[in-house]
Amino acid sequence: MDAYVIARKPKSLLCQPILRNGVLTGVLYLENSASTDVFTPERVELLGILAAQAAISLDNARLYDQREKALEAAKESARLKGEFLAKTSHELRTPLTSIINVPKMVLQAMTRQPGAVCSRCSSTFALDPGEQAHPALSCARCGQTGTLVPSAIAEYRGNLIEVCEYMEMLVKSGTLLLQVVNNILDFSKLEAGREVLQVETFPIRQVVDEVLAATAVLADQKEVAFDLATIPEDLELTADRIKITQILLNLLGNAVKFSPRGSHVLLEVKQTADQIQFVVKDQGIGIAAENQALIFESFRQVDGGPTRRFGGVGLGLAITRSLVELHGGQILVHSALGQGSEFTVALPRQGRPDADNRTSSPPRSTPPIEPNPGGSR
Ligand code: ADP
Repeated sequence: MDAYVIARKPKSLLCQPILRNGVLTGVLYLENSASTDVFTPERVELLGILAAQAAISLDNARLYDQREKALEAAKESARLKGEFLAKTSHELRTPLTSIINVPKMVLQAMTRQPGAVCSRCSSTFALDPGEQAHPALSCARCGQTGTLVPSAIAEYRGNLIEVCEYMEMLVKSGTLLLQVVNNILDFSKLEAGREVLQVETFPIRQVVDEVLAATAVLADQKEVAFDLATIPEDLELTADRIKITQILLNLLGNAVKFSPRGSHVLLEVKQTADQIQFVVKDQGIGIAAENQALIFESFRQVDGGPTRRFGGVGLGLAITRSLVELHGGQILVHSALGQGSEFTVALPRQGRPDADNRTSSPPRSTPPIEPNPGGSR
């Protein structure tokens, strides 16, 4: 017998199922410790009516709860959308401002005046006000007559070294813009399930070298050093080379972005019988355990508010995870706040087993595995 009943010793006891459309949604439990046979047929009938009412109330409460949860989710999604739009506008506006202002500065240091160009030796000449490139004039350089044609002459009054720096700023701003736009396009492609893998077999070393070269400028600016564990020349992976490059670029880019000046980022490639694992480890700000699942959701940043210290629109890791899973792989993070982060991407060595099913599934907004107490997913 039930331990509770043994201990309480009720004289009368009633259990009335609460049914809603034939489904058990609760149980009405009544007991009386003073008298026996208190639950007469009339009372049971009345309790039956009460149980039916309770079933409706329980159902309503459950629906209300679901509605509240749906409203909360809608509010959170609207908040993330607003934050995303603000972040994206900022990410686009900053490089765009350079792209407009830098050429303006160059133009301000330039003068344009009428001149002439020799069609024979290509020499250019400034003309005095009112002077014209007359057909009878001869070229002061090659001496040929009748070769001068009217043209405009531009002169830069500043230092050409500055122009080189300006050009570098333009390339950097343009690259940043392209990255933001590419991230958004990639995300929408993955979300629509339109991403398809182009699988080939390639040496891992080559891709790693390309990725390190592409991230070198960023790392140099922050004086972050890359430590690369030796990768055998002949170690190969069967996967979509461009997407693997993108995965590593995202992870290394984040590692540098969230690392302090003068720190180290380690990139290691490990092999098991059927997996290739890429490990990217930094000595950066780290991620608190409660945020480790969130960072793989789209539009999420740990510090996503208006006073955030780091750029980005919160799509990199959502895209990375989708690309890894598209390959039949898995991504894990181990991190501790203030002590750095370690991201591991494990991929099947010979491409994903169900090779016919290579189109993407949308990046999820809820991660499949909850973070464990040790902080991984
Ligand atoms: P974003 O491009 O905005 O950084 P990601 O999806 O790449 O977006 O990353 C989401 C968030 O995860 C980041 O904003 C940051 O809070 C956190 N994060 C990612 N990588 C690291 C890392 N190596 N160290 C610390 N935090 C990280």
